[in-house]
Amino acid sequence: MLASYIDYKLRQRDYLLEIAKLMTSRLDLDSLLRLILRASAELLAGEVGLIVLKERDGSFRIKASYGIAPEILPYFEPFLAEIQFLKDGSLSLPQLEMRLKVVSLATGIPLRQVIALPLVAEDELLGALYIFRTTSLAFSEDEHQILAGFADQAAIAVRNARLYQEVLTEKQRLKAIIDHSADGIMILDPDGKIEVFNQAMSRITGIKPEKAIGKYCWDVLRLKDPQGKDLCQKECPFLKSSSTEQPLYIEGEIEREDGRRITVGITYARLTGADGQILSVIASVRDITHLKEAEELKTTLISAISHELKTPVAIIKGYASTLRREDAHWDEKTIKESLAAIEEESDRLSRMIDNILEASRIQAGVLKLEMGDVWIPKIADKVVDYYRRQSPKHKFEVAFPPDFPVILADEERIREVLENLVSNAVKYSPNGGMIWVGGWADKDKVYVYVVDQGIGIAEDEQEKIFERFYRADSPLKRRTKGVGLGLYIVKAIVEAHGGKIWVESKPGKGSKFIFWLPRR
Ligand code: ADP
Repeated sequence: MLASYIDYKLRQRDYLLEIAKLMTSRLDLDSLLRLILRASAELLAGEVGLIVLKERDGSFRIKASYGIAPEILPYFEPFLAEIQFLKDGSLSLPQLEMRLKVVSLATGIPLRQVIALPLVAEDELLGALYIFRTTSLAFSEDEHQILAGFADQAAIAVRNARLYQEVLTEKQRLKAIIDHSADGIMILDPDGKIEVFNQAMSRITGIKPEKAIGKYCWDVLRLKDPQGKDLCQKECPFLKSSSTEQPLYIEGEIEREDGRRITVGITYARLTGADGQILSVIASVRDITHLKEAEELKTTLISAISHELKTPVAIIKGYASTLRREDAHWDEKTIKESLAAIEEESDRLSRMIDNILEASRIQAGVLKLEMGDVWIPKIADKVVDYYRRQSPKHKFEVAFPPDFPVILADEERIREVLENLVSNAVKYSPNGGMIWVGGWADKDKVYVYVVDQGIGIAEDEQEKIFERFYRADSPLKRRTKGVGLGLYIVKAIVEAHGGKIWVESKPGKGSKFIFWLPRR
């Protein structure tokens, strides 16, 4: 008798050990709860079992069942109310007998005995475990104790599985936030290798995540300052030994995969361990190219206004107040010359204002074309006529074939293009000379050129002069008026028409600006 009892106890212990091992390896809450229930029922020879767990709002819900058909599970609701954990470690469930009767009646299962135990981990009530018997055999004190010991272990496993699930959910939530953030987000490991590279980051840099992940951040971003100096060497949060908790902010330029240069602002936040070593670095990246450009435009506009616009105004005012002097009588010739100068300066002023406005429209991306029939030779004639009067030093020739086609374009904008090109031809040939304006057409394009015999443009500047505010370096730069917007606008207008512009030139040998536009 005693031997068989010892044998039974040993087997029970082995079984419990086995289950305990299984429990600790299970992180999926549902399957863990099923395991706990099955083991408890088997241990106590119970036919029916329930696990209820406490929800965030404090209420209890059935999370696993044993020996109960799913459709009658709702009838077990009476076991969900007023569950309380008492100080002595027991569970308080008022009127347990009564509940047992109610549920038996409702379900048709003859539940006779119940044992209810709290699931408690670190003094927190997680839920309760019920095992029922349909026989009249009461649960012994010994059985009670075995199950209580088991429930304590089970509660720890449940808590771990719940924590694990919370971590998983949190991780998924974080991933969703990072994936859909409008800012570029990059997470780096302690060595500076990229672990996370979100969609926005990919959009900003033009680099696909798979091309960035696993590489060193500095090999992927290659952040430079406006002078082209490597910022990754100088400002990298890995190289900077400062231990402040302050996030680090850096602005710099990166070259996108498509070759476009953009300015980005990067905030680096370092996640450090207890002893201060970097665990990971979170970099949030913003494309601030537009902001920088707007800032640059603002500064340049202010300096353009103060330098360039003031001059014609001063000249106009000078002539006007001279003419107005009451103590002087001006002959006809002087009056005419003064008025001509006033007219010329007003024209220049208005051209400059037009250019500045046009440049800000292009910058804002609102260059709208009003398309209509346009015959370029007529516009060229008008523009050249004006400069012929303004600059007696130059000889002009307009040469278009009579059958030069009418094209679909924005007449006012094409006039602006020619105005800028001819005015440059005059401005940058200070010793005078010939200026030719002409063109030809093929099946689907019209070509227009403006040629001068002026100072020319060095090879390495021929592309840059079309950039905003760029003025080629020459002794004339300081002597001629200009802000470097003309060709930027010309290029934007030509390209908005679907055309192309370029220059052919040699320093000292004059320049030839050529553009083509589609005929329709
Ligand atoms: P701006 O004339 O106001 O400086 P533009 O954008 O019209 O601005 O021209 C940019 C630069 O290109 C000029 O500063 C000048 O250095 C160069 N450039 C333009 N047209 C000519 C030309 N016909 N001959 C020589 N250089 C030119």
